[in-house]
Amino acid sequence: GCGALALLGPAPGAPSCPHGPALLFVKTSQGKEEGRRFYACSACRDRKDCNFFQWEDEKVSETRLAAREEYNRNHQPPFTHRQNVDRYKNFVLLPLSKRRFCQECQQLLLPAEWEKHSDHQFLCDITTAQLKSPSQLLYPLENKKTNAQYLFADRSCQFLLNLLTDLGFRRVLSVGTPRLHEMIQSRASKEEGFSVRSLLLDIDFRYSQFYTEDEFCHYNMFNHHFFGGEAARETCRKFLYEENGERVIMVTDPPFGGLVEALASSFKKLMAMWKETEKEGHDNKEMPVFWIFPYFFESRILDFFPSFSMMDYQVDYDNHALYKHGKTGRRQSPVRIFTNLTPSMIVLPEEEGYRFCTVCERYVSSGNQHCEICNSCTSKDGRRWKHCVLCKKCVKPSWFHCNNCNCCTLQKHSCEKTDVGCFVCGKAGHKRSTCPRLSRT
Ligand code: SAH
Ligand code: ZN
Ligand code: ZN
Ligand code: ZN
Ligand code: ZN
Repeated sequence: GCGALALLGPAPGAPSCPHGPALLFVKTSQGKEEGRRFYACSACRDRKDCNFFQWEDEKVSETRLAAREEYNRNHQPPFTHRQNVDRYKNFVLLPLSKRRFCQECQQLLLPAEWEKHSDHQFLCDITTAQLKSPSQLLYPLENKKTNAQYLFADRSCQFLLNLLTDLGFRRVLSVGTPRLHEMIQSRASKEEGFSVRSLLLDIDFRYSQFYTEDEFCHYNMFNHHFFGGEAARETCRKFLYEENGERVIMVTDPPFGGLVEALASSFKKLMAMWKETEKEGHDNKEMPVFWIFPYFFESRILDFFPSFSMMDYQVDYDNHALYKHGKTGRRQSPVRIFTNLTPSMIVLPEEEGYRFCTVCERYVSSGNQHCEICNSCTSKDGRRWKHCVLCKKCVKPSWFHCNNCNCCTLQKHSCEKTDVGCFVCGKAGHKRSTCPRLSRT
């Protein structure tokens, strides 16, 4: 219809759904002055996954509050993390022939439970190797709006881990990166002298079956909610405390469905947690971060983190239907690394065509030509961009300069459309996501 939705962010005193405190949104109708504010689930943008909804000014009766609390309790996982850790200990004591994994319930089964799952599909003879690669055993939750679990291709995961260790990091806070976590754990158990540790924060509670409370926290990155309460928060805090000069980096690969401001707000809280661990306050430093996200979110991310820059490296995935092999046979993935580390330190693989630009002082993709006029390697998507003298900047190769619109755009476009204003206030010059009318909390 003729309305727009915008996120106002986490709000003090927000009501909770099973996924922790809800986020405050505003719904505006075109032409109307004030929008109406409401709370909705932070984690699920599909109403089918969580239908929590409450107008900000709505009076909620005692009965409904009580019912809601009970609902939230009943919608927690069947086992606690502690219970899952104990179950795991028992599971590994079983002979191979008794190690079963229920594919329907996505759960390791103890023999006493077989009966209950007798008409479910299950896997037998679960090996130690399988237990160490839960991201292969569990099916990826591909639900686009909620979980969007896209696993790194082995090549990209190896590259990330080598990069981190070459940079000297010894601890990785893995936020929504179960496969990186798994690779770190597995190398630490196999290779002597490999001393990197990882703590996984993820909303996918299935992982609690495979990791202890020191290795995994059930966490919601859209509202910075630790489901395990103060104890889990403390685990994270301890992990961020850099003992014996062991440097920490946070690596995160969130679902791409938007809500950049909610993610940024949570990441700032994790960064603040890191900062607080050091009595001297880390001077003015920030916790090093790799935020993996599509290139078209660059300006949104830089709005929140001006110290970040985007690297040209294309992150590849195993199960992402959209980012399959391009014309060249090589995958053209739009996913990049955003980091607050000095770009020149991020060495990209030359065997994959990346080269170092001495002017920009960073590695760029093979197609990214240094533009003498912009004095920068300007391509965002890996293709060679062209400079437009009228726009005074480089643009995509498929664009051309339209004299009506007075800017570069696609060949096929309708000229009038480019000048419509913001969807919220109707004024030109900004989009609804940056509308000044939507004051952020
Ligand atoms: N490429 C990564 C996986 C990224 S997919 C890897 O291979 O390791 C996105 C991840 O974020 C998934 O693990 C998913 O479970 C997790 N996730 C989705 N929503 C989340 C939320 N609200 N809070 C925390 N983690 C979430
Ligand atoms: Zn089952
Ligand atoms: Zn350059
Ligand atoms: Zn240029
Ligand atoms: Zn132009």
